[in-house]
Amino acid sequence: MATPPRPGFPVRLTPTASAATRGRLPAAPLRPSVIATPSMASDAIRARMVQKLAVQGIGDGRVLRAMGTVERHRFVDSALVNQAYEDTSLPIGLGQTISKPNVVARMLELLLAAPALVGKPDGKLGRVLEIGTGCGYQAAVLSHVASEVYSIERLRGLHEKARVNLRHFRLATVHLILGDGMLGYPKGAPYAGIIAAAGGEAIPEAWIDQLAVGGRIVAPTHSVGGGQALVVIDKTARGLERRILEAVHFVPLKSGIA
Ligand code: SAH
Repeated sequence: MATPPRPGFPVRLTPTASAATRGRLPAAPLRPSVIATPSMASDAIRARMVQKLAVQGIGDGRVLRAMGTVERHRFVDSALVNQAYEDTSLPIGLGQTISKPNVVARMLELLLAAPALVGKPDGKLGRVLEIGTGCGYQAAVLSHVASEVYSIERLRGLHEKARVNLRHFRLATVHLILGDGMLGYPKGAPYAGIIAAAGGEAIPEAWIDQLAVGGRIVAPTHSVGGGQALVVIDKTARGLERRILEAVHFVPLKSGIA
C-alpha cells in the first residue's frame, strides 16, 4: 500500500470536525488549531533519541536530561538535519566529525561518575575542559552538567563554526578557545573533569597536571592492539587510577593550530 507523503513543517493540526459531523460520534468542541513548529517536531524526535539512549544503558538522569535539551540539529549542516538524531557520527567539515549521541552520553556519564561526585546523583561538575570543540555540540551538552566549560579547538574554521552555532543558545558558562589542547588550558585549571573528543598516543601530562584532586579524565587513546580505547583516569589523594574501557573510533589528536 502506498504511504501518503509526510507533511512538511510547519504542519497545521486541525481537529477533524468532519469525522464527528459525518458519523455517529457526538461532535466534540473544536479546539483552536495548533501549529506544530519544527522545534516541537525536534522535541519529539529528541525524546525518542533519549529513550533509545536509556535502552542502550545510559542511566544517569543528568546526562539524559542534557541530551534531551540540546538541539543537535542546530549543529549539523542543513543537508544532514534529518540524520541529526540518529545514533551516528556526522561530518562537520575539515575532515572532522561530531560523535554519535551514544558516545557523547557514555563519556558524559563516565565524567559525572568522578570520585568527587560519588554519592551525589544530582550533583553538577565544577569546571570542565573539553579538548576538541568541533561544532560545539558536546560543549553545549556539557554546559548542562558542569558549572563552567572551557572548550579548546585547534582548527580555526571549526572554532569559528562552534562560535556561530552556540550563539543561538546564549550559554554564558561556555568559553571557546582557539589553541592546542594537548597543552590543556592552564588558565581554567584545576578542572573537575577533562574530556577529549580526539585520541592520541598517550594522555598528555598537561591534562594530568591541570586535573583537580577528585577529578576525572575521560579520553580515547591508542590501545595495544593498534586501535583506540576509552581511558578513564582519576586523580585521588592516593595518586592516579587508570582504567581502560571499550574500543572507540575518534579522530586523531594533533598538535599545533591550523
Ligand atoms: N566535541 C566535538 C567533536 C569534534 S571532533 C563536537 O561535539 O562536535 C574532535 C575535534 O578535536 C576536531 O575538531 C579536531 O580538530 C579537534 N582536535 C584534535 N586535536 C586537537 C588538539 N590538540 N587541540 C584541540 N582540538 C583538537
